[in-house]
Parts: sequence; C-alpha cells; structure tokens
Amino acid sequence: MSKAVPAAATVPADYSLDVAIEAAARAIAAAPRLTALTGAGMSAESGINTFRDPEVGVWRNWLALALFGTPNGWRWTPGWAWSNYRRFHDPIFAAEPNDGHRALAAIGEAMQSSGAGTPTTTASATATSGYPLRVVTQNVDYLHQCGGVPDAFVHEVHGSVFRHRCIAKGHPMEIPQDAPLPASAPKCPQCGSRARPDAVLFTESLPGATWESAERAMRDLGPKDCCLVIGTSGSVYPAASLPGMCGRGVVKIEINADESGYTGGMDIFVKGPSAQCLPRILARVLELKAEE
Ligand code: NAD
Repeated sequence: MSKAVPAAATVPADYSLDVAIEAAARAIAAAPRLTALTGAGMSAESGINTFRDPEVGVWRNWLALALFGTPNGWRWTPGWAWSNYRRFHDPIFAAEPNDGHRALAAIGEAMQSSGAGTPTTTASATATSGYPLRVVTQNVDYLHQCGGVPDAFVHEVHGSVFRHRCIAKGHPMEIPQDAPLPASAPKCPQCGSRARPDAVLFTESLPGATWESAERAMRDLGPKDCCLVIGTSGSVYPAASLPGMCGRGVVKIEINADESGYTGGMDIFVKGPSAQCLPRILARVLELKAEE
C-alpha cells in the first residue's frame, strides 16, 4: 500500500476503501480482543433480506408486521402469523454462511493462535478467557455458528428461528430442523397452544442472560481492543446501544454497505458489503500476524 495509513481516529467515510481496510486490519491485528455487533446486512449476501432496505426490506407491510412481528399478533392470528413466518424462515433455512461469516470466524482463530484473548482487566474476562472473539448478533439465522464461531461466543440477543416455543406458556417445542417448517403451526404437547419462534418480537424484552453476556462482551473491552459493527442500521433498541458501552481506548470499526446511525461515532468506517470487506481484512490480518 503506497498511501500512508492514518491513525484510526482519522479514517472516516471519505477515505478510500483500501485505506479503510488497511486501517481496520492493523487495528484488529493489534487488538487483544474483538467484539462484533452484527445485523441483517451481515447475512444479505447469504440471500436473506435485510429489515429496512428500501428495495428488499421484508417488513414494509405494517399490517403484516403488527400481526406476525408482535406477541399479540401471534395470539390473535396464530395460523396467519405462522404462514408469514414460514415465508421469512424458508430463505433462512436454505441459507449458507457467506464469505463474511467465515472470515469473521477466521479472524477470531487468527487472533487466538497469536495469543490474543488473554484477559487483561476484569474478573468477568477471566471467566471467559482463551477465545478473543465475541459475536453479539441481532440476526436469528444461526449463520455465525455455521460459519465457524463457537456457539458459546455467539450471543443471539434477538433469539433464533431455529428454536421454538408455544404461544401461550412459552413451553420449549422441538420442531425438526432438517426440513422446512410444516405448513401449519404444530401444537404444544403440554398445553395445546401453537408454536412460535423463540425470537424477540416487537414490544418484547430481550432474553436476560443473553443480554447480560452481550453487555459484558462490550463493557469488558479495553484499550486497543476492537468493537466491530457490521451491517446494522442501529435503529433497533436496546441492541443499538451496545457499541456505546465500550470503554475508552477501544477502536470502533464499522463495516456497512452504506452510512448508518453509527458512522459518525466510528474510528474507522469501511464502506462496502461485509462478504467482500471481511475477507480482505482477514487476508491483511494474516499477513500482519505473520510479520510479528
Ligand atoms: P436493518 O435492516 O435495519 O439494517 C441493515 C443494515 O445493513 C443497513 O445499515 C444496510 O446499509 C446494511 N447492509 C445491507 N447490505 C449489506 C451488506 N451486504 N454488507 C454490509 N452492510 C449491509 O437491520 P438491523 O439493524 O439488523 O435490524 C433489523 C432487525 O431485524 C434485527 O433486529 C434482526 O433481528 C432482524 N432481522 C434479522 C435477519 C437475519 O437474521 N438475517 C434478517 C432480517 C431482519
């Protein structure tokens, strides 16, 4: 790279992609720990529509959103909600992790094999030492785990469409995951109410223990650690507040196809599709690690 790469805090949106990728790779290669917050854009190249994209957004129909995106909708019209849910679920069921998912997992492995992940500051870091990457995802598609990030280090703050529970009592329900969902919602063997995804619907609280882990994954970051925000508009709360919980000295990096609500507060903005940018960052991280 011929052009000098500026310090992280001076790589805003108007720098070239090459410069931003170089700066991101250097920050990540030097980081003891990395926490990524990911959103629907992360899985766009796996063929799953994002939430708000004006061209392809899945929930532009507000009536549909009210009936299949809220607990009352599921209570009032369980059959209708299920049929809409199947339309959302089917592409997720068919999806494979993309190059971005795989590259993020490989970045975690590269950090680990070079000795990153050793706890530096807090007691809670000690409890989860050894693996330097945490992924806090708003996605419900299980693609980070399929891409190679160990389950224990993926915090699904909005739940998963690969788990189900009943509408009335929340009893866990086993629905086979080796075939598309059945045409009608299965009945709970305990109480007879219908199945719904174990995903967070509008107006519902986030799962407490998972949320605490996600907060900790951000708050534990210290100087030189990286917070990587990928493919999220930053408009769904409380998840959107997570990058603001990082401590001082944390390098904040965003990868997004477009500017978002986060961009102005980032140290480095990498503008482009995550499935293309993350492999480039990974390749450069590996080179930098090899030079160490
Ligand atoms: P959002 O739709 O509000 O925002 C998507 C963001 O991704 C935008 O900022 C967009 O510019 C960016 N983007 C689009 N394509 C990209 C790409 N190829 N590479 C990088 N960035 C790209 O999504 P959100 O902020 O995650 O909020 C949506 C909510 O809907 C989340 O809570 C999530 O649970 C749910 N959701 C999940 C999935 C999934 O599991 N894959 C899909 C749709 C919606």
